[in-house]
Formats: sequence, C-alpha cells, structure tokens
Amino acid sequence: MKKILSLIAFVFIFISCGSQDQTIISSVNSVEAKTNSRPKLVVGIVVDQMRYDYLTRFESKYGEGGFKRMINEGFNCKNNHFNYVPTYTGPGHASIYTGTTPKYHGIIGNNWYDKTIKKMVYCAGDDNVEPVGTTNKAGKMTPRRMQTTSFADENRLFTQGQGKTIGISLKDRGAILPAGHTANAAYWFHGRDEGSWISSSFYMNELPKWVTDFNTSEAAESYLKVWNTVYDISTYTESGTDENNFEGGFKGKDKATFPYDLEALSKENRGFDILKATPYGNSLTTDFAMAAIKAEQLGQDNITDILTVSFSSTDYVGHNFGVNSKEVEDTYIRLDKDLERFLNYLDITVGKGEYTVFLTADHGAIDVPSYLQSMNIPAGYLDNKATKTRFEEYVSSKFNNSNLIENVSNNQIFLNRVAIDSLGLNINDVQESMVNELIAYKNVNKVFSASTMTTSNFSTGIESLLQNGYNQKRSGDIILVPESNYISYSKTGSTHGSGLNHDTHVPLLFFGKGIKHGDTYNKTVIPDIATTISAFLGISFPNGATGEVLGFVID
Ligand SMILES: [Zn+2]
Repeated sequence: MKKILSLIAFVFIFISCGSQDQTIISSVNSVEAKTNSRPKLVVGIVVDQMRYDYLTRFESKYGEGGFKRMINEGFNCKNNHFNYVPTYTGPGHASIYTGTTPKYHGIIGNNWYDKTIKKMVYCAGDDNVEPVGTTNKAGKMTPRRMQTTSFADENRLFTQGQGKTIGISLKDRGAILPAGHTANAAYWFHGRDEGSWISSSFYMNELPKWVTDFNTSEAAESYLKVWNTVYDISTYTESGTDENNFEGGFKGKDKATFPYDLEALSKENRGFDILKATPYGNSLTTDFAMAAIKAEQLGQDNITDILTVSFSSTDYVGHNFGVNSKEVEDTYIRLDKDLERFLNYLDITVGKGEYTVFLTADHGAIDVPSYLQSMNIPAGYLDNKATKTRFEEYVSSKFNNSNLIENVSNNQIFLNRVAIDSLGLNINDVQESMVNELIAYKNVNKVFSASTMTTSNFSTGIESLLQNGYNQKRSGDIILVPESNYISYSKTGSTHGSGLNHDTHVPLLFFGKGIKHGDTYNKTVIPDIATTISAFLGISFPNGATGEVLGFVID
C-alpha cells in the first residue's frame, strides 16, 4: 500500500512539474531555500598566536583534510590584519567576535590598570561570581568587562534564545570573550593537579553531566605521554635546529630538544598545566569540543547555533620555544590533524555543507629578537628598569613631586590626576612635556599623549592602530611605541603585542555552507569577521561593530 501511495505521489509531482504549474513549486522551493540558507552551526576557530606564514611555511607538511581543506574548498583572505595595538589575546578574541577594536569594546589588554579603582584588573576576572567545577579562583570569570556584543550575542537575541552558544578554550579569556554575554556556557581548562574543564556561576550552578563525565574519563591523563615529532625530525626543514640558543624549554630538562617525557616533566611544570604548552592541549580541546557538539546537540536543527573554539597551545609553545622552533612546527602539523578530525566530525554530526567555519588568530608573534640579531636584523630587548629610573628622576625634578605616576603597564603611563590638579598644573601640559622627554630615550620610537589620541583622527600607520586601541575611559595618559623588534621579554621564546606585521598579519579562512571558493590579496581587517558572519546570518551586527562586510566570500 505504501509503495502504491508513493508511486501515485511521484506520478502526481511528475505531472505537476510537466504541467507548466511551475510558479507554486518554485515559490515553495524559495521559501524552503530561505529557511535553509542559514547554516545549522557556525564554528569560530581562533588559533592563539598563529602568524599568516604558518599556513605557507608548513604547507608541505599539512594533510588534505585540515588547513588545506579549508583553503581548497573555502575562501582564503591572504592579507588579513589586526587594525589596532596592543595585539594581545584578550583584545584579539574580543575584536574577532565583536567586530570592533578596544576603542569600543573596552578590552584594552589582558590585564590593565583600572583608573577608577586604582588597581590592575584581568580582562575576564570577576570576583562577583563563584567557580564551577573547581574551588580554585580560576573559575571566577565572566565577560562583563567587554562593553559591546559579540555576533554570538546577536544570534541569541535574533533567535529568541533558541540558538545556542558554547565557548571552549584552554584559556578562560579565549572561551569567555568570544561566546559573549548571553552564552549558554563557556568552558576553560584548569591544570595544576586537577586537569579539568571548568566554568563559573555566571553561566551555571554546576557542570552538566557530560562535562563531569569528560573530566572523570582521564582524557587529560591520557595526554601525559612522550611528545616526539610526528614525522622524522630530519624532514622538518622549515624550522631551525632542534638545539639552539633561542628557546626556553621545560623545568627538569637541560635542553629544549625532543623527545619530552610529559608525565615525568609534569611534576616540575605545574602538573596538568604542562599540557597547555604541548600540541596535546589542542588535541584535548578538540576532544572536548566534539563532546560538546554531541551532548549539547549543536547544529541539530534549523536554528543556527554558535560554537567558539580557541586553540591556546600554539601560543604557549610559541612563547616557550619561539617562532622558528621545531616544537612550533610539530605543534602546527599536529593541529592540522586535529582540525581534520574536527571537520570530519562536523561532517558526520551536523552534515557536510550544513555548517560554516571561520579560522583566524588573535595575534601573530615576533621571531626571537636574539635570533634576529644573529641574522643581522635590527632587534633587541628593552631595558625597562633604566627607562623607569630616568623617567622618575625627570618627573621629580621637573614637577618637584615624586607622586605623579600612578601606573605603567602595556606601554602606557597613567598619571595621578589628583596630584597634578593640586599642584595647579594643566594635565595636557604635563602630558606634552612628558612626551618630549620620553622621545629622547633609548629604544623609544614614538610617544603620544592621550589628548593627541582624542583630538586627532588618524587613518593610516601606527597612529591609527594606536587610536583604534585607545579607549578614552580606560587607557593611559601617555602611550609609548618601542623601536621595531624591541620587546620586553626573556631572551628566549617569542612574544607579541606590537603593530608590526609579524604581530598583525594572521590567517583568515572561511569554509562551508554559503562560502565561495577563492582567495584575495585585498586587505581585510579583524573586525570584518563578525560583521561578515552577521550579514551572512541576516542578524543584527554586534552593537559596536566597525568592520566591513566581506561580501566577496559569501556565495
Ligand atoms: Zn593569544
């Protein structure tokens, strides 16, 4: 009977199609197409500290299913940059997802001096909430210092809370800021002797069963194994020698050379925290993201869900071993494999062509300056102590008061406005005389005052990057720009934060449902990502978004 009915239905449809009655059918199809034009799931992937050239330098080592799949089937924005300084993790994640810069979203650093409470604060720190899944203060985190919405927030508002948002990263700020203010959950990793994924009471009162199950499954323990290169190390011709003078390494091991016995080394390297500084931290993140997709049923209906995943281990490895190390190369080869595993899982669970992914980074990194010096490239290390002493002496003698400096952080000087007022001095005059003093100092390349930042409008160069990073309410009175390739850091390992291309130029790949295949050398900037995703989903732009819609990536 069933067979006969479907045969009749088939014949009927066949006849209808053939009977010129196309209008009804095509209008039905277009309604269908409209409701299905949105992806079931948007996955935002941020690779912490990924320079653009990691896509090209290690290309021959990548498989077909990870980075290359995204490039070969998706859209590659090859000239994508951060358009502000400082290029740090907190501002990076906030800017990617809010579609704007610290000037508007307010995340001006990972930590900064809060002028109103006269204390350093952490971008995601919040003493008003309780840890969940741990008793450690590592759980006292929320997105409240971020002053604008992320595209995930706008998707929550648009879908009347029916579209879910989950944020995942080893780093709290990498999970919390992307997922925004309205997330169903954000999870981050607490190492030490716990090795667990945790959250805060901002999101929930206790961990869901799938998270406690994951935590008790010994997933983290399973990665405390020997880290060796995935391929023969002699084939790693894209990086420097394994033993060199530019690497940090782990406590308890003389040389920063493969192999690394992580279980043995974990005892002297903060227990499970050692995983963060190995590629296995990214594998653990992948495992956890896959568990979240399954348990939270992400992408299982036509209401778009958002999953934000940030791979933090690349940053820890870069800081420890440097941009040109074998360890960084192996970490990217293994991340490529994790990415392949993750995309394959999305194919099976959400369905090929039913989800949309973008991949970018929160900042790049500098080659180790001592290595650059060995190659005759101008680079070096800042002597902050000497600068501080000389500047304090100047302030004391010039203003006859040693109390005018409140704080120095993130290359900014915060002045004591009450003291300046009580001396009868004009704040703008004080700023200007300090600018003229500091520009004469060694390794100081540029100095700007807060009044310059708020009264001029810069459209190009480092001045515009500084201005996009300058938040009148939160930033300091004097902004310093060090000489190119001069950093405040140990003489081993890489760091980031500047407006130079090694820090600003990062990958931007779009892939999956609704994305064109292609590439461009046209310049794109980080805030374009959230506006493009919002336009693509047909939802409101994040409320502070300043980016452009990259229409050419949308099919
Ligand atoms: Zn970072």
